[in-house]
Amino acid sequence: MTVVESLQADAEAAYRRLTPASAALYERAEAALPGGDTRQSVFFRPYPLFLDGGQGAHVEDLDGNRFLDCSNCWSAMIHGHAHPAVVEAVTGQVAKGTAFAAANRHAVELADLLKERLPSIEKMRFANSGTEATMLCVRAARAFTGRAKIVKMAGSYHGSHDDFEVSGGESPAGIMPTAAEHVLEVEFNDKDDVTRVLAQHGDDVAAVIVEGIMGSAGMLPPDDGYLRHLRDETARRGILLIIDEVISLRLALGGAQELYGVTPDLTAMGKIIGGGFPVGGFGGRADLMEQFSPLRSDYLHHSGTFNANPVSMVAGLATLRQLDADTIGYLGRLGERFADGVRRAAAARGVTVQVTGVGSLRNLHFAARAPRHAAEAHAADKELLRLLHLKLLTDGVLVAPRGMFALSTPMSESEIDHIVERTGEALEWLRPAIEERAPALIGQRTGAGG
Ligand code: PLP
Repeated sequence: MTVVESLQADAEAAYRRLTPASAALYERAEAALPGGDTRQSVFFRPYPLFLDGGQGAHVEDLDGNRFLDCSNCWSAMIHGHAHPAVVEAVTGQVAKGTAFAAANRHAVELADLLKERLPSIEKMRFANSGTEATMLCVRAARAFTGRAKIVKMAGSYHGSHDDFEVSGGESPAGIMPTAAEHVLEVEFNDKDDVTRVLAQHGDDVAAVIVEGIMGSAGMLPPDDGYLRHLRDETARRGILLIIDEVISLRLALGGAQELYGVTPDLTAMGKIIGGGFPVGGFGGRADLMEQFSPLRSDYLHHSGTFNANPVSMVAGLATLRQLDADTIGYLGRLGERFADGVRRAAAARGVTVQVTGVGSLRNLHFAARAPRHAAEAHAADKELLRLLHLKLLTDGVLVAPRGMFALSTPMSESEIDHIVERTGEALEWLRPAIEERAPALIGQRTGAGG
């Protein structure tokens, strides 16, 4: 048995002791849901955790175990769980009715609020997921330019529709084979690569799409000037620039586009703008968005039973009204404290770990250098991350399985210090496995705190 296998067995045994109710329900789930799962990003072995509730920075599972939640529904729950303002707004709306085949005032209010915060958005529409938001940005771009191709960053995630499932130039099983013909990939943060691809294919490219911070690859920020380079290269070729702010909107009132000083043509949103309820939003230049206006005879179709449903709208409004520049600054300081703390805790154990990210969005990587694009991130050791996730879980800290931490406003410095301490202990526990799998990451213990 390798060290990794033995630590995995220990962590799994601890997890099984802690979560018998999740184990039992998973067995039943397997009979109804393929693999017992209906959302791949929350699945992990030996079986996923079944949560039953949450309050503030904590969540509780079926066995009554409490966890400090650092996943926060993959960053959607910026105020943690059951925030009083959101609960009040939502319960009030639920009592009044939840879905109508009619327009509602809350959608107009939320659109106004987002327009005010993101000046690039002159007009916008709502959908039910970030997936729909990016899909509809692409529809708008193709219709406007009359071109079919889309350029995306290799390893980026923009949702689960066909175009964005293309990877490595291939359409995976079940995806329209033609999708791969229309989607070109470039290496994130490589200016020359995108310039080369646009020089070659520019006349056929409708849009370049980029995440404000590359979440799925492990919270990789754009290098200084990279987004501006994309803006310049697209503008001079009549190509549209779409910034996917589904994750990155929380980094500033105006999202990553404010942080990095870039004005896209279209923006996709999701997660925090629904305050914990299903949502998507997309918007941008008025001439692009007007294509969806039913006042036009040739309008682009966009419908959806639950588009702009009043519950998501009031929850989004309550959430964003609680999120001002000071609150985002506070979250950013928590993020710095977390990153510094983990770096120190790792150094104290003589372990090299990279903490990437910006503000309240962070990711750990077992790599010698901080990855700058997906290929580098994927080269880091994933097995060690999986082990770290399970170990932290059994120690009461819930992180996203691929080592992602999204902090929330109910957290205080003491919660951050608690996470750092648990992470330091987990790294100590992991040290023999790191030595086995990635000896280059083992060095002298600094003896510093953490
Ligand atoms: N875009 C990005 C950057 C995302 O991270 C996600 C989801 O995690 C999506 C789009 C898709 O959003 P949804 O899961 O709401 O469909």
